[in-house]
Amino acid sequence: KKAEWAKLKDEPTVTADNQHVELVANIGTPDDVNGVVNNGGEGVGLYRTEFLYMGKNQLPTEEEQFDAYKAVLEGVGSDKPVVVRTLDIGGDKELDYLDLPDEMNPFLGFRAIRLCLERDDIFRTQLRALLRASVYGNLKIMFPMIATLGEFRQAKAILLEEKEKLQNEGTEVSENIEVGMMVEIPATAVIAKQFAKEVDFFSIGTNDLIQYTMAADRMNERVSYLYQPYNPAILNLINNVIEAAHAEGKWAGMCGEMAGDEIAIPILLGLGLDEFSMSATSILPARTQILTLSKEEMASYKEDILAMDTAEDVVEFVKEKTGQN
Ligand code: PEP
Ligand code: MG
Repeated sequence: KKAEWAKLKDEPTVTADNQHVELVANIGTPDDVNGVVNNGGEGVGLYRTEFLYMGKNQLPTEEEQFDAYKAVLEGVGSDKPVVVRTLDIGGDKELDYLDLPDEMNPFLGFRAIRLCLERDDIFRTQLRALLRASVYGNLKIMFPMIATLGEFRQAKAILLEEKEKLQNEGTEVSENIEVGMMVEIPATAVIAKQFAKEVDFFSIGTNDLIQYTMAADRMNERVSYLYQPYNPAILNLINNVIEAAHAEGKWAGMCGEMAGDEIAIPILLGLGLDEFSMSATSILPARTQILTLSKEEMASYKEDILAMDTAEDVVEFVKEKTGQN
């Protein structure tokens, strides 16, 4: 199997009916780029920048961040996309040195873009580092945990302010940076149509989208039976996001665990997902699977799947149609 996968390392990801989808990787540090390249990733779909901020006792400087972002862009290769997510701290990821008060519900609290919009000093430093690094590759920026269009507009306005400042200082900045958002709060999936007019792309964060939609903590074993990627409620939200994106000529990706799952992949192909971002080691198995699947066939099951009653029904149906067991 390994030998079969290795042959596909430098091949594009195409379905049996010759449709291309993008298979990219989730990374946490510049060191992870080797794994992306060695596993045939077509780019990076999620660079979790939290690790720059964690495991130390102060905020990373603009220079430290610039070095990291440049290293990732150059390591991946100049034309390949690199989607960098701005700081997503809070929830389970704490920063002691920020000295934030304890919260009753950290996952519903002051985190990610909420924190960045209030502590815009931290946010602006990160954005400046990203903008300066942008000339070294194909950078795309996305904001985590967006709940309202107001937040997206505010975050994008800050980005544009920093870009203008840098340019006024004579610093070169790429003119082709796409600006998108994660869809991980159900409210945004429900009105994805409104968001699609203003974003360049969506990346669906199913790890959080599932926990918020099912009201089931993604780390709590006792409620893990409710953490259902194939629940028709989740699939309908995902479909809504993809349709909204395509109606505006935008692309939709997924960077939650679900994107690399062999039951989910056929469903997501049928829903028209454009980009699948997963751990580097899942890329070659996923490419191998996608080669065997017809996108047109999977799309023909879309309405049936979306109308199913339970996650179990969905799984049974997909297994039967794709010959998995
Ligand atoms: C997600 O929520 O699906 C996601 C990719 O982000 P994280 O796992 O870092 O919360
Ligand atoms: Mg998330």
